[in-house]
Amino acid sequence: MAGVVFRSDMKVEMVRCAAQDADVVWSARVSTAGDRSLDDLGRDPKEATGLIRYLLLNRHGTPFEHNSFTFFVNAPIFVFREFQRHRTLSFNEWSGRYAQLDPEFYMPAPDRPLVQVGKTGHYEFVPGSDEQYETVRDATEVSCRVAYEQYERMLSAGVAREVARGVLPVATYSSMFVTMNARSIMHFLSLRTKDLDSKFPSYPQYEIELVARQIEAFFAEAMPITHAAFEEGGRVAP
Ligand SMILES: Cc1cc2nc3c(=O)[nH]c(=O)nc-3n(C[C@H](O)[C@H](O)[C@H](O)COP(=O)(O)OP(=O)(O)OC[C@H]3O[C@@H](n4cnc5c(N)ncnc54)[C@H](O)[C@@H]3O)c2cc1C
Repeated sequence: MAGVVFRSDMKVEMVRCAAQDADVVWSARVSTAGDRSLDDLGRDPKEATGLIRYLLLNRHGTPFEHNSFTFFVNAPIFVFREFQRHRTLSFNEWSGRYAQLDPEFYMPAPDRPLVQVGKTGHYEFVPGSDEQYETVRDATEVSCRVAYEQYERMLSAGVAREVARGVLPVATYSSMFVTMNARSIMHFLSLRTKDLDSKFPSYPQYEIELVARQIEAFFAEAMPITHAAFEEGGRVAP
């Protein structure tokens, strides 16, 4: 059997970024300046802080769509299940029909909160005991190893990949490209990051938040004025 790898990290790399604060300004100005809005193309976007804040705080969302971020994401399948619920994003993912998936599995890190306390809608996650962590580690290791062994067994017997993959767990790492714009990123961040100071706090799963925080760092670097206005507005997407 190929060497089984257990990891706790989420990889996010920015493949392409065609996005700047100026894109918001230029696309918004066409509504008042018409063909003269092209004259604005060379202007310093920093002058536009007020306009961006106005658009964002008043939920004029479409000017935030004229830009594009493409990310490569490598994360467990259960994170992709959550990610791919966001219908305004574009995805292409590694195919378990056309390729043999690698024996790479997610193992929660020792500091990942393990225990849910409270009732549905009003719960939090707190650290587990050493014994609970041992149980998680052991159960994850045993089941992933057995699953991959049986996957390879079927492949060796000539069974199609699309059939054999049925035994792989959602902890298996997959890879995808995802393309988002600033508006869809803000919506994603509002739901997939936890910030108790935001206007509508969300309680996302720990692992997708690890991905979302990396996406947020790229977004904040490319569009600092928009990101600051998003924060100021209580992390509500326009
Ligand atoms: C903490 C948390 C817990 C969750 N728990 C569950 C769960 O238990 N079960 C479950 O199934 N899902 C769950 N989800 C997923 C959730 O229901 C959404 O599918 C996901 O958050 C995407 O949100 P969205 O539909 O707003 O976003 P997107 O799909 O990105 O859409 C963006 C926006 O476009 C508009 N839009 C998109 N499609 C339509 C449409 N067809 N009709 C009208 N407007 C549309 C809406 O305004 C929407 O907000 C959970 C999500 C979070 C963050």
